[in-house]
Amino acid sequence: MEQEAQAPFVWVEIRNPQRSEISGWHDRFQGERITVRLDVEIKVVSEYLHIGSGMLRVDETGGHPRTYIPFVRRNGQPVIPGSSLKGAIRALAEALSASCLLFPGNPPPCPPVRPEAHSPHLCPACQLFGGVGYRGRILFEDAMPLKPVSLRLVLIGDLWQPRRSRGRKFYRNLAFHPAPEGAARNFHYVEAVPRGARFRTRIRVENTTSGEMGWLLRALGLEARAQELAPAFPIKIGGARPRCMGGVEIRPVELAIWDSARLSWRTEPIGTLGAWWHQPQWLREDVWDPLRRELRMRGDETCPRGPYRDLR
Ligand SMILES: [Zn+2]
Repeated sequence: MEQEAQAPFVWVEIRNPQRSEISGWHDRFQGERITVRLDVEIKVVSEYLHIGSGMLRVDETGGHPRTYIPFVRRNGQPVIPGSSLKGAIRALAEALSASCLLFPGNPPPCPPVRPEAHSPHLCPACQLFGGVGYRGRILFEDAMPLKPVSLRLVLIGDLWQPRRSRGRKFYRNLAFHPAPEGAARNFHYVEAVPRGARFRTRIRVENTTSGEMGWLLRALGLEARAQELAPAFPIKIGGARPRCMGGVEIRPVELAIWDSARLSWRTEPIGTLGAWWHQPQWLREDVWDPLRRELRMRGDETCPRGPYRDLR
């Protein structure tokens, strides 16, 4: 039995949600708002990325059969489902604003929006990503690989259900710690994409504002450097995050705004994103700075491969 290591995550304390009337709900707001299409490239920067398909398969090659959890595929190709991206980015957006948590916990989630409601009030995250009875204004397409990806079977230590919650938990970006030789008990195989693999996807945001986009760009893990936005820290997606898998960097590659007079997309200079980033709405600066520091890539620290203790 290995000695218990320090937990590879940080907690963000959640404040009481700040709820306001749904923007874009009434027609009079629509004119001031923009609809944005953002194409991004996603690069795997941790040792591995694993997004489980939710079933088990057996690998018969190499002598003895090995049971593993396959990576999600579409038409035979590994893909990052839009829902995985949306979940990860929503979690960051929630922590970076006074929003409720999508998953049960404190504070209580926003109330369901009923069709007959006149002026429903929701927190920033529910307004953008959706809530009960309200579909939200952001859409993530599945991310497709830019080049054929070679998948590997990786042995990892079993994971346990978290025992307690102290707000929102974010896994740090430490180096992957391979399983010991001949490990079997309390270890299992997952199919994973190795570091360096690149994917591309499209994010669409309807009836947004430059301020809301500024907050969203932070939740994509971006920071302003010189004239452009660059990854400040990897965001974590998929499974085995407690084993330090799933760190990806997001890089904007193309921006377009819907021209409602011409009924077509108009390409916008990518530098516009920098202007939006500098004037975020909803942003909790007291969370942004420590989170940006804590979630940076730390290749010199290794991830626990067995049980760990939450020391804080
Ligand atoms: Zn909410």
